[in-house]
Amino acid sequence: MSTLLRHTPVEITERQALSINPAKTCQPIGAMYASLGIHGCLPHSHGSQGCCAYHRSALTRHYKEPISAGTSSFTEGSSVFGGQSNLLAAIQNMFTVYEPEVIAVHTTCLSETIGDDVPQIVDKADKEGKIPAGKHVVSASTPSYVGSHVTGFANMVKGMIKGLAKPKTKPNGKVNILPGYVEPSDMAEVKRLAKMMGVKTICIPDTSGVTNGPLTGEYKMYPDGGVTVAELQDCSNSKGTIAMGFWASADGARYLDTEYKVPCSILELPIGLGCTDAYVDALRTIAGAAVPKEIEFERGQLVDMISDYHQYFYRKKVALVGDPDQLVALTDFLVSLDMLPIHIVTGSPAGKRFVGKIDEITKDIGYKVNVREHGDMFLLHQWIKQDKPDLIIGNSYAKYIARDEDIPLVRHGFPIVDRVGHQYFPTTGYRGGMRLIEKIVDALLTRTERDAPVETFELVF
Ligand code: SF4
Repeated sequence: MSTLLRHTPVEITERQALSINPAKTCQPIGAMYASLGIHGCLPHSHGSQGCCAYHRSALTRHYKEPISAGTSSFTEGSSVFGGQSNLLAAIQNMFTVYEPEVIAVHTTCLSETIGDDVPQIVDKADKEGKIPAGKHVVSASTPSYVGSHVTGFANMVKGMIKGLAKPKTKPNGKVNILPGYVEPSDMAEVKRLAKMMGVKTICIPDTSGVTNGPLTGEYKMYPDGGVTVAELQDCSNSKGTIAMGFWASADGARYLDTEYKVPCSILELPIGLGCTDAYVDALRTIAGAAVPKEIEFERGQLVDMISDYHQYFYRKKVALVGDPDQLVALTDFLVSLDMLPIHIVTGSPAGKRFVGKIDEITKDIGYKVNVREHGDMFLLHQWIKQDKPDLIIGNSYAKYIARDEDIPLVRHGFPIVDRVGHQYFPTTGYRGGMRLIEKIVDALLTRTERDAPVETFELVF
């Protein structure tokens, strides 16, 4: 791979129908990840075994946890005649053998191409008594020839709300938090901040405690974490919804707003100072809660770090690749550090909104910024060859470019298969901002020290 990358040409030829080293993965992976954030849920992939094996292995490699899921195991017959009988049998078998509270069915390229109507099949399963009393099946349409893993996540978040929320009864005094496609550690962090403010939340979905659980010696098919069915049924009674990340969370939040009149605020992911401030302020406004001294203290620590290490950030050029929600918040953070985010690529089709957001955030940095939605790693590499940054921030696949161009890499996003920590230590919230600063400073100074000639090598740079 690394050798092949050496042939990446500097000159950019416009491509329309060819993606080289995509900076995204397929919809069902996001849908499967979202499903794992429901307590007692068994995700189900309605398609071939190969798709399901890929989705499971992608999540297992990132989280280092065994990811269980069912598959409709399409054969040639189901590919021609449709997968209804396979899904009906699967629903019955899974409830009988594995006893989940919920089965979350997502489609695949194949079942979408055939045109299987999953809600109709689920309805049939219900009428035929294949869904035991008190158990549930939710679903989302996730054709992977459009969108990305982020779209699949958003579709399943909306699917679980649509499938489980009950009509309004009495106010529950809670705030729905749609945390976006972030790590389980990040979900725990946004909940922790809300708890510190005394705000009761329903986090949809909540993979904390599921894909980053402890090793106890006891196998639990359904770990303790996850938003419960009762909470999902109750989310229509909340006083508001804070949706973080437009591409991962807006659809679910808007559905709650339209169907159940739960007003929503759509924010950026709370990565960095400004975006975390916006989250804390939204909690304060919606829940009528005060910001406690403990949160002010954490914020102050982040501001202190920004000020103490500013000399290392100033005008350092950064290339970023990842998911649109992460990139918008990260770019905002880097600009606030006086860094220069100069090449920004998301593989997700995120439209003009993404480009407009980045343009708005970077308009005053005084440097030409390359930004592309629905781009790929090949384009990022070409931009890097044209204007070499001091740092790359991206997932594990960015390491090939980092090695080829000899640029430090801070791993962030999905997937990270060759490092640890992302599952356990957040990059959201003020503490997450501190962790990001630590990683950035570490990467930059390690490079400075490596390159310093012996006569100028210092204890402190
Ligand atoms: S066929 Fe489609 S759903 Fe299956 S793994 Fe490939 S992209 Fe994903």
